[in-house]
Amino acid sequence: MAKILQAVILGAPASGKGTISSRIVKSFDVIHLSSGDILRGHIENQTDYGVRVKSTIEKGLLVPDDLMVTLIENELKHIHRKSWILDGFPRTRVQAEMLSTKVKLDFVINLVVDFDVLIDRIKGRWVHLPSGRVYHSEFNPPIVPGKDDITGEDLVQRSDDNAKSLHKRLSLYSEKIPPVIEFYKESKLLHNFHGKTSNEIWPKVYSFIAQFLKEEN
Ligand code: ATP
Ligand code: MG
Repeated sequence: MAKILQAVILGAPASGKGTISSRIVKSFDVIHLSSGDILRGHIENQTDYGVRVKSTIEKGLLVPDDLMVTLIENELKHIHRKSWILDGFPRTRVQAEMLSTKVKLDFVINLVVDFDVLIDRIKGRWVHLPSGRVYHSEFNPPIVPGKDDITGEDLVQRSDDNAKSLHKRLSLYSEKIPPVIEFYKESKLLHNFHGKTSNEIWPKVYSFIAQFLKEEN
């Protein structure tokens, strides 16, 4: 039977978590769970959760840990004998500790990208909400401006991709992520990948995962 992987991908807003994750999905048989996409889905569908988190997200603040853990647990419950990668979760040490009591992770991929690169990326970012596919008006434009390459549907700018929320998201990230990184360093799960662009980082992530899947259990 094929080897199963259970992993987390960490990185600042716009560090390329979504892009790298979608390449992982394409290259390996892996399910991508993005906490941000899950939350935006709830908002779009106006579920109870969506109504509760909408203004928090628009302000660039973090959704409470217990709510977030419940949402992620619900998603993981539906996955059986399939590889998965979690993007955007955990975001706090409490979330990381809670996750560790539920599942055994194989590794954590940490995308390390300079902060000044991130700001330019977010400003020009366009997303296809149903799939989470990400484009950039300059660095990675869609084939037809304003339309998703695969479905042809409209692209939108995220309501939290504005200067004010962005600033908040970056500062919250710098504050909350070091204890998460420390936690995964202690558990020997952390692997850092440095680079300015996803194209630069991707080959390193690819060989790392390919190697992991090749090794005997
Ligand atoms: P990126 O821009 O690369 O998608 P991001 O971190 O800015 O990264 P998302 O991961 O899509 O954006 O998350 C968007 C928002 O959803 C966050 O700003 C936060 O309000 C909320 N959120 C997502 N994941 C979590 C989490 N694990 N804990 C708390 N809040 C979360
Ligand atoms: Mg994301």
